[in-house]
Amino acid sequence: MIRPALVITAMLLLILSVSCSDEPVTRYEFLMDTQCSITVYDAGDEAYIDQTFALMREMDRRLDRHSQDSQIARINRSAGICPVQVDGMTYSLVARAKELSILTSGAFNPLLGALSSLWAFGSPEHEVPDASQIADLVSHVDIGCLVLDEEDMSVYISDPAVQLDLGAIAKGYASQVAAEHLASCGVERAIVNLGGNVYCLGSKGPDEDWVVGIQNPEAPTGGYFATVLCSDAAVVTSGSYQRRFEVDGVEYHHILDPRTGWPADSDIVSVSIVSDDGALADALSTACFVLGTQEAGRLCRSMGVGMLALTTSGRIVRLDA
Ligand code: ADP
Ligand code: MG
Repeated sequence: MIRPALVITAMLLLILSVSCSDEPVTRYEFLMDTQCSITVYDAGDEAYIDQTFALMREMDRRLDRHSQDSQIARINRSAGICPVQVDGMTYSLVARAKELSILTSGAFNPLLGALSSLWAFGSPEHEVPDASQIADLVSHVDIGCLVLDEEDMSVYISDPAVQLDLGAIAKGYASQVAAEHLASCGVERAIVNLGGNVYCLGSKGPDEDWVVGIQNPEAPTGGYFATVLCSDAAVVTSGSYQRRFEVDGVEYHHILDPRTGWPADSDIVSVSIVSDDGALADALSTACFVLGTQEAGRLCRSMGVGMLALTTSGRIVRLDA
């Protein structure tokens, strides 16, 4: 005979285990110069999150141009001198960056490293660089300087005045690699967020998309002006409110117009791209910011990706994929 007390205990255990596995688990780490988080909804073994952060740390180590022994720093030190052999991941990301630069007519350009260093948005001292220095550096920026040899897996920058900077593509790419790693561990529902580069793995529920809030530039962190629905896709946002400084009442932000070397001055304050390709979403968000709503809309339509933009006049432009 089955005793009622045993049945109740068994039921309690069942309820506890269901609620435990349904409880999302979130971990944070500062990587790729931004606050990153991973939330797993069907947690299983939390070691998967540790492994995923380790993978992201390794990507950061290879791609961070400011770290002396990264592959990107080696490529930059060898600019105008010799090609540098790199690992498969770095090679394919650099090749992708070149391809996307051509596809966006140069609005996204991974060769703005010297200009980004000149503007020094990350440093506490804020100074507007000398206009003639900007003009000089921008005259060297030409995607033809990025020479790739697939057989050798080498990257060469043919002009010593040019430096590689993957800052506008690496985080979107890493968010997808992280999500794919979680999926390979058996995780079905997770959100990876690298400072606004959000990858949504799986869906929120059966026939229910994830809802991603898009930061309102005027509001404190967590205040949204719109939401985007998606499943198994990246939502990547670029905005002039993210990194900036003010000198003599003028604001300068970190997204540069590769044609001028100055902060892009389009009609966009914030633009989000939705695509199942994280690197594409990241590069396009930067390109669309530079191009402004009209050209950005044309580009996104031609590529079949979703876009949500907030303009300087407060208009919301939404384009479904
Ligand atoms: P965030 O890095 O804040 O997510 P973005 O993805 O738009 O924003 O990338 C901006 C970073 O990329 C800058 O900090 C700079 O290093 C680099 N960058 C700036 N302008 C461009 C551009 N037009 N094309 C490619 N990279 C850029
Ligand atoms: Mg970007």
